[in-house]
Amino acid sequence: MRTSGIALAIAALSISQASFAQSTVIDCGKLLDVKAGIWRENVSITVENRQIKSVGPIVSGENHIDLRNYACLPGLIDMHVHLTDETKPQVEQFRAALTLDPADLAFRSIKLAERTLMAGFTTVRDLGASDGLNISLKRAIENGDVIGPRMFTAGKSIATTGGHADPSNGLNRKLRSSLGQPGPENGVINGIESAREAIRSRYQEGADLIKITATAGVLSQAASGDNTQFSDEELQAIIATAKDYGFRVAAHAHGNEGIKRALRAGIDSIEHGTYMDDEAIELFKKKGAWYVPTISAGKFVADKAKINDYYSPLVQPKAAAIGPRIQSTFARAYKAGVKIAFGTDAGVFPHGDNAKEFTYMVEAGMSPLAAIRSATISAADLLNQSQRLGQLETGFAADLIAVKGDPLKDVKVLEQVQFVMKDGKVFKKTP
Ligand SMILES: [Zn+2]
Repeated sequence: MRTSGIALAIAALSISQASFAQSTVIDCGKLLDVKAGIWRENVSITVENRQIKSVGPIVSGENHIDLRNYACLPGLIDMHVHLTDETKPQVEQFRAALTLDPADLAFRSIKLAERTLMAGFTTVRDLGASDGLNISLKRAIENGDVIGPRMFTAGKSIATTGGHADPSNGLNRKLRSSLGQPGPENGVINGIESAREAIRSRYQEGADLIKITATAGVLSQAASGDNTQFSDEELQAIIATAKDYGFRVAAHAHGNEGIKRALRAGIDSIEHGTYMDDEAIELFKKKGAWYVPTISAGKFVADKAKINDYYSPLVQPKAAAIGPRIQSTFARAYKAGVKIAFGTDAGVFPHGDNAKEFTYMVEAGMSPLAAIRSATISAADLLNQSQRLGQLETGFAADLIAVKGDPLKDVKVLEQVQFVMKDGKVFKKTP
């Protein structure tokens, strides 16, 4: 009796699944096989249950999505964004900090997430926000409440007192003492015990990975843009604890010493990497660490540093000194054979302009195909998602974009994405 009841239930379930498994067919004029580095002509992709079910020659049928005049590529992946923030002149920045609540920032980030997806970026790594905003945004996108890219988030990034991403930087004594010194829960550590506690806090808040600020940074209200901010012991404690929880660790780093310390400790990716020397480049290769360049952010802050009062008097000279150097650092690292994953630091510049990074990479000597690989298969590798993201193959997530023209000849066409599908759902239709 019991067995047949279960058997009946299973039979009923499989019937209902069969009748509800809707499939979508997309016909592409050409499709980029990013792994092989070749175009496949006239290809149909069948999507079922958010996944690619098959890829093959175009077959006739009704209700296909017609992209026969377009070039199809896997959805793009940006390894470094801050979806809950966007650049503003310092006066507005300070006013926002004093008057806005986390909920205001959360509502404001809705359009930033949507803009990112519409630009063809179907997956992003969000490398730091306060008050759990990026984690809540990720949840809202997963629930279908907000339109945006698939997110992997670091929650609050981890700093040392006074370091880049200490939320109390720039406040006067009165405000600092009334708010209290931020601790590991708010991403500030001093010593190995609090380093471990900060990782456990990220686990508790639901982060997917860890972000640390291994050196000073441009946009914080602090004197240096590149000094070293963690001891070797702190870095080792962070990385060992992160491993216990299955986290990968990304390090913001401009200064050479901080870059090398983070690499020696076993960091997974270095963000920006501005002042890396040849020894650092060798360490990248020896350790197999990824470099995420963010040339776009460098160029943007260098430009804005020329405008009076866009940045505070502390930030302006740092932006002018550090910003213009990143593209040539990238050129050196790429030429030397460092593994590159695409990342922009969107939020430092307007969200949605992420694809300009491709042009900057190609300008610095990378081929368009290598640049596209950095934003697909390589980014998926750094995310530990090589079996699911970054390729248009059977079994992969149905994340697909389409452009006019040939991005392998002119990478700029990626700045005009015409069609976006994420998880099998169409978010942007061709005109
Ligand atoms: Zn950043």
